[in-house]
Amino acid sequence: MHTDVNAQAVDFDVVIAGGGLVGSSLACALDGSGLRVALIEASAPRQQSPPSFDERNLALNRFSLEALSVLGVLPHLASAPARIRGVHVSCAGDFGRVRLRCEDHGVDAFGGVVVARELGGALQARLDACSGLALRAPARVLHAQPQAEAMALSLDDGSALRARLLVIADGSDSALREQLGLGSEHHDYGQTLFVSVVEAAREHAGIAYERFTDEGPVAMLPLAGRRLGSVLTIARERADAVIALADADYLELLQQRFGWRLGRLQRVGRRSAYPMRLITARQLVGPRCVALGNAAQTLHPIGAQGFNLGLRDALTLAGALRAPGLADPGASALLQRHAELRAPDRARTLDFSDGLARLFTHRAAPVRWLRGLGLAAFDHFSDLARPMVRGAMGHDLHAEAALRLLREAA
Ligand SMILES: Cc1cc2nc3c(=O)[nH]c(=O)nc-3n(C[C@H](O)[C@H](O)[C@H](O)COP(=O)(O)OP(=O)(O)OC[C@H]3O[C@@H](n4cnc5c(N)ncnc54)[C@H](O)[C@@H]3O)c2cc1C
Repeated sequence: MHTDVNAQAVDFDVVIAGGGLVGSSLACALDGSGLRVALIEASAPRQQSPPSFDERNLALNRFSLEALSVLGVLPHLASAPARIRGVHVSCAGDFGRVRLRCEDHGVDAFGGVVVARELGGALQARLDACSGLALRAPARVLHAQPQAEAMALSLDDGSALRARLLVIADGSDSALREQLGLGSEHHDYGQTLFVSVVEAAREHAGIAYERFTDEGPVAMLPLAGRRLGSVLTIARERADAVIALADADYLELLQQRFGWRLGRLQRVGRRSAYPMRLITARQLVGPRCVALGNAAQTLHPIGAQGFNLGLRDALTLAGALRAPGLADPGASALLQRHAELRAPDRARTLDFSDGLARLFTHRAAPVRWLRGLGLAAFDHFSDLARPMVRGAMGHDLHAEAALRLLREAA
């Protein structure tokens, strides 16, 4: 650990601003590292969970499930994630479709589905067991000022802190990302996503469905029994009308858009609506700071990649911070290296999610025809699907290496 003369004046080696899914995962990954870590979260624990610990269903890939198990988070879930054993992709009005089965790819499941609220609860339970973690909530980091040896922080409770490294994990509209000059680019998809749990007349058999329609994609994620986590994309100008629909009319609309593959859809739970945006930080790192998770990139959820990618951000950083002989957790060379390691996985995942969100909104007949042909070919030649499946299962060399390190340390 660092031994310079200013060490006394530094309160923490790492301060994580934002205790959402990604910031909390990083705090778990740093447990036992010997680093002095603080996690600062704006919402009050228990009474008012972080905003993203809501009813959204998260499809987690194999790598994420394994990582959350190594981090000791999965044992705190009340029920095991529902397994995704197959994926079915189709496009309304086109003849092609893709069917992926886990057994064809030598695995027992592509991943699992958990409710964000339950995963948030499991993370909070795991954080309670972290030794030496300073958990400050509710508290908000208001200002951050990089200095030569540390990042100076001021909080909304009037306190001040100095940290070797500030991890910016404060979500999509990250004020710290902007304040520290990392910058961001924004694209509004002009869509609103409706999320709700529904029940279907037929068994889903662990298949996750994705159906592309002119108005945007619809997805059904398998849950326990005949329940499914439904995701319905609606053009922004129609969102208010859809919010106002009675449950029966909403189910009718969902049925119309999804079709009858699972028989009649019945019983819809509470609906939540989310505006769809793509936000990317221009730079992932700056002097004594690094952005992770939604603060680094907020993706269209249709590819189910946001948390999966954010978790790989967190693991890769934890790997670097846990490396033997670490001198300074906020050293510029360490941060630059982190940005380089994350670049390929980030670019690949952004392209995949954005491509999915945009490609299927083309209305021109030749594009639709080619797309149908593409899906048909994809379904026919399983070699075409392999790289996509590998990517979707979350393979990234550096995150895998970091996970090996964590497993050895556990
Ligand atoms: C409908 C929907 C479905 C999704 N489905 C999937 C899926 O299937 N698979 C998947 O991998 N991903 C999915 N995602 C994405 C996933 O939810 C996000 O990627 C994930 O929540 C990002 O976590 P985060 O910790 O980076 O940000 P957040 O969860 O937004 O957390 C940020 C936290 O920072 C706190 N905060 C803000 N400002 C401050 C401050 N100044 N100081 C201290 N704290 C602060 C906030 O209170 C908040 O708790 C989905 C998203 C949506 C909207």
